[in-house]
Amino acid sequence: MARIIVTGGAGFIGSALVRHLIDSGHDVLNFDKLTYAGDVRSVSSAADSPRYRFVRADICDARAVKAAIADFRPTRIMHLAAESHVDRSINGPGEFIHTNLIGTYTMLEAARAYWQQLGNAERDAFRFLHVSTDEVYGSLGEDGLFTETTPYDPSSPYSASKAGSDHLAKAWQRTFGLPVVVSNCSNNYGPFHFPEKLIPLTILNALDGRDLPVYGKGENVRDWLYVEDHARALDLIAERGRPGETYNVGGRNERRNIDVVHTICDLLDRLRPREGSHRDLVRFVTDRPGHDARYAIDATRLETELGWRAHEDFDSGIEKTVRWYLDNEWWWRPLRDRYDGERLGMVPAGNAPRAA
Ligand code: NAD
Repeated sequence: MARIIVTGGAGFIGSALVRHLIDSGHDVLNFDKLTYAGDVRSVSSAADSPRYRFVRADICDARAVKAAIADFRPTRIMHLAAESHVDRSINGPGEFIHTNLIGTYTMLEAARAYWQQLGNAERDAFRFLHVSTDEVYGSLGEDGLFTETTPYDPSSPYSASKAGSDHLAKAWQRTFGLPVVVSNCSNNYGPFHFPEKLIPLTILNALDGRDLPVYGKGENVRDWLYVEDHARALDLIAERGRPGETYNVGGRNERRNIDVVHTICDLLDRLRPREGSHRDLVRFVTDRPGHDARYAIDATRLETELGWRAHEDFDSGIEKTVRWYLDNEWWWRPLRDRYDGERLGMVPAGNAPRAA
């Protein structure tokens, strides 16, 4: 069994990964600063295990990172900690530059110092998985898919900071030989998702009978992946992925945003009926600046080399997700009290880029 440091393990994807790794029998150290997006309640099912440990610290704090690595002696580091919300990166890019770039640099340097003093067998077996997003590739037109060789072309401060961190990770492999693998995944959804992102925000606003804001005309397309399928993919990539390579992760489940929102409305009409349809709550609002039109992933490498398949398609995954939010108000209610869905990510009028 592996000894694994997971950074960002109290966040949405990190917590799914920690739960999966503990269930699989591994030893896990969850290293997380607990920003607004982190919540230890998301890993409560794993926290009772004697194989689980938690350190509250910042990935930009080189001494804390070094001490955690020296103490835990990992066979793998899976690096997920990041600022992750595009709209917040428009309001305040600084935190994204700091955490996603300086934080990743700090993790890579600490991992390199540790890896260099390991014995030969341990050095060969060690892996650093850098977890990233398909948003680094920019926007697709109506056709085509992102592959591992698609050139980087990020649009938002978030995706630009992730693109930069991917380049750092690759450079540490090429220059220093650190066995780094990079994964780039499409949009995730599922349980324990902070209610600022489209799917949980829509579910909770609909339950409250509030407006369901849809950016622009809702035509933007995302390729949705159930978070537990992503967690299994990450485990596989960290265990068997080739150092220096990128693996794209996606479930071949493209949906327009408006169709995602309508699907949630229809599920709630069935599971939690109200007077009239939940679709009546949909409101089209000013689009996000720099909003990429379409993302879609070609996951052939992951499927053929490592044998991964998504277990959920969008219809099964979204029903599970809606049911989870209906059953788990204990988790989301306190978060909703802290952030109740106000609009983020607007550029002041006159400063927005003109249409080409
Ligand atoms: P999240 O915002 O839900 O969680 C981020 C976690 O990182 C939180 O627990 C937070 O406390 C922690 N964190 C933030 N800054 C930190 C710091 N300086 N030091 C230590 N911990 C810190 O994010 P997520 O949606 O779970 O995404 C996890 C990773 O996966 C990110 O790297 C993101 O770029 C990537 N990703 C996300 C998606 C998606 O759809 N959410 C898709 C592809 C890739």
